Amino acid sequence: MSRPQVIIIGRPNVGKSTLFNRLVGKKLALVDDQPGVTRDRRFGEATLLGLEFTIVDTAGWEDEDPDTLPGRMRAQTEVSLQGADVALFVIDARVGLTPLDEEIARWLRGQDVPVVVVANKAEGRAGEAGMMEAYALGMGDPVALSAEHGEGMGDLFEALLPHLEDDADDDEFAPFEDETAGSEDEAEEDAPPGPLKLAIVGRPNAGKSTLINRLLGEDRLLTGPEAGITRDSIAVDWQWTNPKTDEVRDVRLIDTAGMRKKARVVEKLEKLSVADARRAVDFAEVVVLLLDATKGLEHQDLKIADLVLQEGRALIIAINKWDVAEEPSALYNGIRAALEDGLAQVRGLPVFSVSARTGKGLDAMLEAAFALREVWSRRVPTAGLNRWFDDALEANPPPAPGGKRIKLRYITQIKTRPPTFVIFGSRLDDLPESYRRYLVNGIRRELGFGSVPVRLTLRSSK
Ligand code: GDP
Ligand code: GDP
Repeated sequence: MSRPQVIIIGRPNVGKSTLFNRLVGKKLALVDDQPGVTRDRRFGEATLLGLEFTIVDTAGWEDEDPDTLPGRMRAQTEVSLQGADVALFVIDARVGLTPLDEEIARWLRGQDVPVVVVANKAEGRAGEAGMMEAYALGMGDPVALSAEHGEGMGDLFEALLPHLEDDADDDEFAPFEDETAGSEDEAEEDAPPGPLKLAIVGRPNAGKSTLINRLLGEDRLLTGPEAGITRDSIAVDWQWTNPKTDEVRDVRLIDTAGMRKKARVVEKLEKLSVADARRAVDFAEVVVLLLDATKGLEHQDLKIADLVLQEGRALIIAINKWDVAEEPSALYNGIRAALEDGLAQVRGLPVFSVSARTGKGLDAMLEAAFALREVWSRRVPTAGLNRWFDDALEANPPPAPGGKRIKLRYITQIKTRPPTFVIFGSRLDDLPESYRRYLVNGIRRELGFGSVPVRLTLRSSK
């Protein structure tokens, strides 16, 4: 089975190479601030939420007049386009449409290939204006993306799926064959899971470094004034002995923030802790968000928690400095309630009270982290999944806007880590968000995923 091909097109510096790298998962392409660093067409094997395809990054713009579509690029890209199933037309959402973008768009309209418009650099709210301009291209709904931060990849998946799955009516599972095959299931579940990849994130002074030092049992992390200089995260392998069972388990701990606690500007540091969380979720399977019992839950904490969940990682909340907590039970309940209010996407996050200073609660927290990883990696047997699905539809049938019922035909789990499901049906554009939430909540509650973030994609089958 040959892989479908996706081609990335766009003017220099919009983030094509960054997107390419994100999809291929390796640093194959050179990324640089200077336009035109990419010199050749490159091919990579891409994976996106279980969808597999060949990705082609085009280039050849350099040395040309930046305001016109260079003939050389045209010729080269035309060749690449012939083999492509879909083109990703990347624009810079922060800059908006430039004359060159518009010229590429005109040219693309004359080509015989479906186009998905990608508005890149759209992290935060910075890309909103560019998104509107992208709509105005009239080339379908643009996908807001941050190639650099890996945001919007689920939307990209949904936009690509219809183009890469044209034979879906003959074999609805075709692109996911490998994932749903029984042998693969077993392979995944039997494979030794490797060390638990755990990240500790939280605001400055929450006690991350103290906690990591406590876990490692020695002062492994720098705490001197020069620590603030280090920018990269570090990983430490160690072994945790479960005191209840004496079982020894491997953990890879990712420390991002502890290294730079001495940075001068507090405001900057606040921003950094979100950036650190971003980096951490790239590595981690389970993320511990450390709160400070003397401070409670603040907006910044919710932001970090939200980010972790959106990126599909399992999340544990740990309230640190419990040894000095005042009115602990009111504090605990208050934080619980604020989490339920502030994070609509999941319920019942595990909340531990810990003390990095005394070691209290840390074993229970680690035990939960291992358990959570198991759930996060779980595959629901197809029969049970569809039984649940039928019951859920019967208990609460999808609405019938305009008298025509939305049809939901079946569900399949295409992926684990995080658990990702696709529902096939028709008239899905009319499905209200509330109904989709009903299904996601059902999957979480009734199929045993608890607080683990679950992804659900809807896909039309005629
Ligand atoms: P290309 O010339 O289209 O291949 O663009 P590159 O991938 O080399 O990216 C150009 C610049 O944009 C680099 O400095 C990237 O770090 C930056 N960039 C890429 N993607 C994003 C993004 O999602 N957000 C932001 N803010 N910058 C990005
Ligand atoms: P980080 O910025 O998140 O890495 O925080 P640190 O590990 O540097 O800790 C910040 C401060 O909180 C330090 O003064 C620690 O001694 C203190 N601290 C950390 N954990 C605890 C704890 O469990 N109890 C108490 N009382 N203080 C703690």
